[in-house]
Amino acid sequence: MPEFRKDPVVGRWVIVAEERGTKPYQFGEGWERESSFPCVFCPGRESCTPPEVFSIREKDTLPNERGWRVRVVPNRFPALLPCEPLHQYIDGFYERMSGFGVHEVIIETPDHYLDLVDLPLEQIEEVLRVYRERMRELGEDPRLRYCLISKNQGEKAGASLPHAHSQLIATPVIPKKVQEELKRAREFYEEEGRCLFCSLLEEERKKERLVWEEEGFMAFVPYAARFPYETWILPQRHCAFFSEIEEEEIQSLARILKIALSAIKALLHDPAFNFILHVAPYPRSSENYADYYHWHLEILPSLCKMAGFEWGTGFYINPVVPEKAAKALRQFIKDKS
Ligand SMILES: [Zn+2]
Ligand SMILES: [Zn+2]
Ligand SMILES: [Zn+2]
Repeated sequence: MPEFRKDPVVGRWVIVAEERGTKPYQFGEGWERESSFPCVFCPGRESCTPPEVFSIREKDTLPNERGWRVRVVPNRFPALLPCEPLHQYIDGFYERMSGFGVHEVIIETPDHYLDLVDLPLEQIEEVLRVYRERMRELGEDPRLRYCLISKNQGEKAGASLPHAHSQLIATPVIPKKVQEELKRAREFYEEEGRCLFCSLLEEERKKERLVWEEEGFMAFVPYAARFPYETWILPQRHCAFFSEIEEEEIQSLARILKIALSAIKALLHDPAFNFILHVAPYPRSSENYADYYHWHLEILPSLCKMAGFEWGTGFYINPVVPEKAAKALRQFIKDKS
């Protein structure tokens, strides 16, 4: 059974999940798109995954059969389990917690051979709608405090299968990285009386780090990007929760996401990357996340390896100047359009 253990030095929770160890980390023959077809995410192989928890599918088709366009299933090698009761223990000197949580896979397309970026816009919109639906639904469980949706594309970015998919992990604690952003955003809000991210948008609109603007959204390379070509996408409308995204915003987000990912793919020769969707925690306390947090998507190309210095300090060494990265992306997009 998985469990959370709290690091007494930095107060960070670590998930210890022995079951994940059986996951096929050895990609070998499994990784190549051709040789892995059909994979467990392919249509016709629905019985190879745990039963689906959600899907968008054609009329008159049944769950766990063909006919789906986006399909959500529990992870076969879960880091956390929804059936675990939520218990926190004092473990002598330490603190630990049962491995309660939700770990799902969102299969983005029935097509084994297409990446998210290559899907038609309507299909990317469907994927984003599924993100919204899952976040909303899991928010109904009062034990869950946070829901992180992320995507690992490519072996180097931690994906174990090439068939396009994203991951959802919902936890009973707020992750430390998110807490750091929340703390900074709250301080800024208390000092300046406005949202930190809204201020960032205003600042970046006139700066050379702007990559692209779509109705309601902006993509830019952050001032202190940690990684080469790191790109953030923010909605113009102040909103802390992705679960509150509106229909027109889904359409714009699909467009800007496709534009940004296409530029990264072409310019950097199809790099592995991660993206993470940072949202406010589920509102379980009097904490007013809605005022000072602003959801956003961070795209992190995996071009550099983290080394001892980064791990040891939390400093990052970025060999590409953010302004130059933004210029290259922007130029590429302009030339294409
Ligand atoms: Zn497949
Ligand atoms: Zn804002
Ligand atoms: Zn963030």
